[in-house]
Amino acid sequence: MPLSALPEPLRTALLIDGRPEVGQGPLETIIDPRNGEPLAQVAEASAGQVEAAIAAANNAFASWSRTTPQQRAARLLAIADSIERQADELAHIEALNCGKPLHLARQDDLTACIDVFRFFAGAVRCQTGQLAGEYLPGYTSMVRRDPVGVVASIAPWNYPLMMAAWKLAPALAAGNTVVFKPSEHTPLSILALVPSLAELLPAGVLNVVCGGGEGVGGQLVSDPRVRMVSLTGDTVTGQKILQAAARTLKRTHLELGGKAPVIVCDDADLEAVVEGVRTYGYYNAGQDCTAACRIYAQAGIHDRLVAELGSAVASLRFAGKRDQDNELGPLISARQRDRVASFVQRALSQPHIERITGAAAHSGPGFFYQPTLLAGCRQQDEIVQREVFGPVVTVTRFDEPSQALAWANESEYGLASSVWTRDLDKAMQFASRLQYGCTWINSHFMLASEMPHGGLKRSGYGKDLSSDSLQDYSVVRHIMARHREVLS
Ligand code: NAD
Repeated sequence: MPLSALPEPLRTALLIDGRPEVGQGPLETIIDPRNGEPLAQVAEASAGQVEAAIAAANNAFASWSRTTPQQRAARLLAIADSIERQADELAHIEALNCGKPLHLARQDDLTACIDVFRFFAGAVRCQTGQLAGEYLPGYTSMVRRDPVGVVASIAPWNYPLMMAAWKLAPALAAGNTVVFKPSEHTPLSILALVPSLAELLPAGVLNVVCGGGEGVGGQLVSDPRVRMVSLTGDTVTGQKILQAAARTLKRTHLELGGKAPVIVCDDADLEAVVEGVRTYGYYNAGQDCTAACRIYAQAGIHDRLVAELGSAVASLRFAGKRDQDNELGPLISARQRDRVASFVQRALSQPHIERITGAAAHSGPGFFYQPTLLAGCRQQDEIVQREVFGPVVTVTRFDEPSQALAWANESEYGLASSVWTRDLDKAMQFASRLQYGCTWINSHFMLASEMPHGGLKRSGYGKDLSSDSLQDYSVVRHIMARHREVLS
């Protein structure tokens, strides 16, 4: 369905206090990354509209926070059903806005969004905690988990609707009210959902405002009525938000960058590694904080891996006329493509780094960059240390497993990692010593709504998905009742 088929002016309306409302701020032109042409114009929220959204969330908190888990679960299930009914249309919008192949947006992003709302609808009804009891004679103690208050949720552009689901479902399930800001590059899918959200949630419980990071984002982070800020984004953005949040001592939940090490031991199943990295090093054009992008390959498997992975990566299909044949899309913007290109250019200016495949922008229209594999990389190289956020994978040779472990951990990032070996002892020892929020064994990238996702070190803190996320979006309170002995 073409975007133009959505009814005007609702297709780019914000959501403020239960009503779709056209933005009164500057117009943001949304670009189609597949051809660089303008796709839509979205009017950002004015400062007055951001103020109104925060006020609405603040007012709605009193009643929403007193609803029962069952009542909130019913709303989340209705949102999941609504997304499911509109999944084809939403996938189409997501694919247009991000440049993703449509079949992947539909089968991966939309399926995950629906499941996340359903998971949190269930999870909020069966939370567990410490037992109530008499921990002091004459006093009964119990622990409550209560919502934090108004949450500002700020999302990136790589999986716009899925990131919205990861943020909104646990925050709303826990009884918070939310002001959500999508990335200025990719607001279209959440805006397309605004009319349904306006119908399915009480006024003010969820508000959606569009705009830039410093402007609309900055206003959200500095408002004293906002009690918590949840960001998925760049590490530098996380640092700025922490500084701003410190002024009003807000809670923060930060999901930041990544540079996932992929440790391939001599005894690994080579075919599985090649298939895994071909898929999960380049999925979403590498614009993924868990992308399998930093390979450490043991000397005995290294040369075969580089040769076979090189051919596999060269076979990745992109920028083809038939969308259903494409396996990856373009980068989100010309700026991001140029950033990736300059990382690769600097890497290849070093004599020890070898281009195996790719290493150039695609010659046609749009912001495509060739899937790239670089070998001969060394631990201290910029391309091994820094997050590229593009379709670029490096290979570094190692001799001893202890060296690979040390190099993998010698990183500012700590989000995701994987180890590939047929030796369970080795796999489990790597898994216990890798300093990453997630370690996959003989796999990479797979997520489950029931399992926590989040980082260590400069990858941030706070968990998405799982009941851990419900805990992050709630506060523990102790209730203690004193009582007289009345029964003998
Ligand atoms: P970004 O940090 O530029 O922007 C993210 C969001 O923050 C946007 O909505 C932006 O408008 C907003 N923002 C920017 N500056 C702000 C400020 N000063 N105050 C308030 N809001 C501000 O990130 P991006 O380029 O959209 O996304 C890419 C980054 O996100 C990568 O580093 C990637 O690794 C990271 N990411 C992490 C995860 C994770 O789960 N850890 C998932 C996806 C993406």
